[in-house]
Amino acid sequence: MRISTASRICGGLLICGGLFYGFAAEPGALPAKARILLVTGVDYPGHLWRQTAPVLCAALKQDPRLEVFTVEDPQFLDSPAIHQYSVILLHFQNWQRPGPDERARENLRRFVEGGKGLVLVHFACGAWHDEWPEFSKLAGRVWFGSDPGPGKRQHDPYGPFRVELVKPEHAIVRGLADFDTQDELYTCLIGVHPIEVVAQAKSPLDGKYYPMAFVSREGRGRTFHCVLGHDVKALSVPAVQELYRRGCAWAAGLDPVPAALKQAP
Ligand SMILES: [Zn+2]
Repeated sequence: MRISTASRICGGLLICGGLFYGFAAEPGALPAKARILLVTGVDYPGHLWRQTAPVLCAALKQDPRLEVFTVEDPQFLDSPAIHQYSVILLHFQNWQRPGPDERARENLRRFVEGGKGLVLVHFACGAWHDEWPEFSKLAGRVWFGSDPGPGKRQHDPYGPFRVELVKPEHAIVRGLADFDTQDELYTCLIGVHPIEVVAQAKSPLDGKYYPMAFVSREGRGRTFHCVLGHDVKALSVPAVQELYRRGCAWAAGLDPVPAALKQAP
């Protein structure tokens, strides 16, 4: 089913396509708010997007500058309406079916390269697998596929591990501390596009470090990519929510931490 509207699922308010409202900003000033388009609606069967998308949405809205709208059809990416958002948040993987078509891919590429933000959640690294090689430039890293080859695995079994912040000076993680979570420790990313890892985790299985969150640039755009968040429990870890909140704000060109919070004791 083609969905032509974007709905704000957290606040119970439905915003129809074309009825968007903006915010006033002084020329040259940083934007005061950011409109985030959360794109979901299809995923690997083990990923319950109907449960996780609202959790993610609610987490982002704890930053009052972030307005979150949701579409449950990734093909919406072919719409000119995407350009009315600051950030596109990919929370889908087109499991065993084609991803959004060429027109949607080109629209998303122009969105990012033109200077907007892109955020990827967990298995969104596998979107357009085997369909769109250029996606790796937007995503920074992508899924290597369902047949990784000998000695490789998709992820460690769901369980506890520690996330270590490795770029303490980066605005997305500044002032935060390493934290423990329970999740899938992804080991399935490939790519050569330049990325800057801000959080990593050491696999208990092989002792190697794997990126958990990183940023990259393509054109004038900004990408924040985080592979944490397999399920509601994993997405409910406060530090994970903070990473996504800050990552979205950063991708939107905002200071990752609201000024009001900086001034708090
Ligand atoms: Zn998963």
